[in-house]
Amino acid sequence: LKVFTEDVKLDLKQDFVLGRVLGKGQFGTVRQVTERATGARYACKSIAKRRLCTATDVEDVRREVQIMHHLSGHPNIVQLKDVYEDRGYVHMVEELCTGGELFDSILERGKYSERDAAGVFRSIAAVIAHCHNMGVMHRDIKPENFLLSAGGTGGSSVVKGTDFGLSCFFSEGQSHKEVVGSALYVAPEVLRKRYDKRADVWSLGVLLYILLCGEPPFYAETERAIFQAILTHDLDFSSEPWPSISGAAKDVIRRMLDRNVATRISAADVLQHEWVRVDGSAAEAPL
Ligand code: ADP
Ligand code: MG
Repeated sequence: LKVFTEDVKLDLKQDFVLGRVLGKGQFGTVRQVTERATGARYACKSIAKRRLCTATDVEDVRREVQIMHHLSGHPNIVQLKDVYEDRGYVHMVEELCTGGELFDSILERGKYSERDAAGVFRSIAAVIAHCHNMGVMHRDIKPENFLLSAGGTGGSSVVKGTDFGLSCFFSEGQSHKEVVGSALYVAPEVLRKRYDKRADVWSLGVLLYILLCGEPPFYAETERAIFQAILTHDLDFSSEPWPSISGAAKDVIRRMLDRNVATRISAADVLQHEWVRVDGSAAEAPL
């Protein structure tokens, strides 16, 4: 099987020394690698070809690479440096994010202050606004797929979006029906198999809710019950810490977690929302 026919490189180990495992995903492993020529470090996502069982799986890998090239240049998106293909694997050599997943940072901190959450969230919303501008739906927005460029809690770390493995190109007015993504983040219209780019905005809303309180807005023991909650449950803004969180934060969350896609806020307008624009400090009085 050849996944790529165009000019991909063949011998990863000739150019890079393989290092420790950084993470594991659906189709393969992500390792730290060091470029022999420069000593520079990168992340290498290796996808085992034997796991690519269907023509769709192969198409998905091609599309992931194509979309990363298409979106490249944005400061908050992980850069793809090179693609290698050998007998067993496709290797995607990417910019290294040494700070790990936003997911782990949330677990460590419990939750974010409004100011910190707004800073992180602004970058995440910017990634999605860029995707939508470029005709791409991400379809897998969750804290595991946003990485921190550097370690520590210092101000130097930048949030970078990655994992375009479930992403796809769209055209305006086109409706999609494949149910993809992760249960906690999936939009109600995705479950109804009729959705477009606005489904990403719902997932952004789930992510921000989690950033601010440490818990998902729609939770249950089984996947089925989670879907039921997504379709019907009201948002809980009465439990701790919500009474002390600003009205502006709740407003932007409500606008993203709007089940009516016709009135749901767009990613571009999320960036213009007062809470996102001014570091979560806009609202003094909790609503
Ligand atoms: P999958 O599609 O299999 O979920 P991801 O691209 O999300 O693959 O990578 C899986 C995990 O590997 C990430 O959640 C992260 O922990 C780690 N990882 C991926 N890319 C990088 C990177 N550029 N720098 C550092 N760690 C990374
Ligand atoms: Mg992932």
